[in-house]
Amino acid sequence: MTAKIIDGKAIAQEIRADLAKQVAKLTAQGRTPGLHVVLVGDNPASKVYVRSKQRACEEVGIASTVHRLAEETTQAELLDLIERLNADDRVHGILVQLPLPGHLNEEEVINAISPAKDVDGFHPINVGKLQTGTGGFVPCTPAGILELVKRTEVPIAGQNVVVIGRSNIVGKPVATLFLQENATVTICHSRTKDVAAEARRADILIAAVGRPKLVKKDWVKPGAVVIDVGINRVDGTIVGDVDFDEVKEVAGAITPVPGGVGPMTIAMLLKATVEAAAKA
Ligand code: NAP
Repeated sequence: MTAKIIDGKAIAQEIRADLAKQVAKLTAQGRTPGLHVVLVGDNPASKVYVRSKQRACEEVGIASTVHRLAEETTQAELLDLIERLNADDRVHGILVQLPLPGHLNEEEVINAISPAKDVDGFHPINVGKLQTGTGGFVPCTPAGILELVKRTEVPIAGQNVVVIGRSNIVGKPVATLFLQENATVTICHSRTKDVAAEARRADILIAAVGRPKLVKKDWVKPGAVVIDVGINRVDGTIVGDVDFDEVKEVAGAITPVPGGVGPMTIAMLLKATVEAAAKA
């Protein structure tokens, strides 16, 4: 069997086209959605991510502003900017690009963002709302993964979903989202006794680990759906957490890297910004 390739790029493009229509309507009412991105320092990967977000905003008509702050920006200066953005009606979404330089306190910065503008879904209020299933913003990568699986028309309720990785930005929230969709969810991490054995029980396997090609063919149940969240730079190329060439021989469907989850993350950020503007 050769797996169906889940084309995240094409699905994200469909979502962006729908969003562009919504943005045009809001703009006609004088409510152009506005996303403000805060970038501190010179992290090269962060610069690339911010540029992609800005380009995607332009494509759908969202007004995006990037605040580029020097590496030596103080905590007080950063908090002051966030306070100003919180108070500005034209700003519907605020995103602070992580990681921040080491001298800054990320937790305090995230907590300072108004939960109503926290389009990344990292504020504790939004984290709590996700846990209780009471709305709020959901982190973009997990939201994108669920959307990908839904649009691929894979059944979720009652299925075994195994998530490898328990980070606050991917593993834990994606597990919560699939639990809310009535899947039976297992979360694996670095202390799990036998990750391969857990993975083999998965109808839907989600790898969010940050270890190149960790997931091998014999970790995957024949016909399973495999979602590869990993972005690892190896010898100048980007590879996922799944050994794609091997695993595609047994999986029923699989996301490529790049072109799978990545484009969905940005599409979900745009969607959250448009929703925030529509509610404002
Ligand atoms: P992270 O914070 O480093 O978390 C990695 C998780 O994997 C941890 O929970 C860790 O366990 C677990 N882990 C590490 N080695 C393991 C092993 N050998 N077996 C089982 N579990 C293991 O990473 P993250 O932020 O979640 O990101 C994961 C990957 O997704 C990275 O490659 C990142 O670049 C990528 N990513 C992609 C997108 C996108 O848009 N496509 C967005 C975000 C992240 P412990 O908790 O026990 O340490």
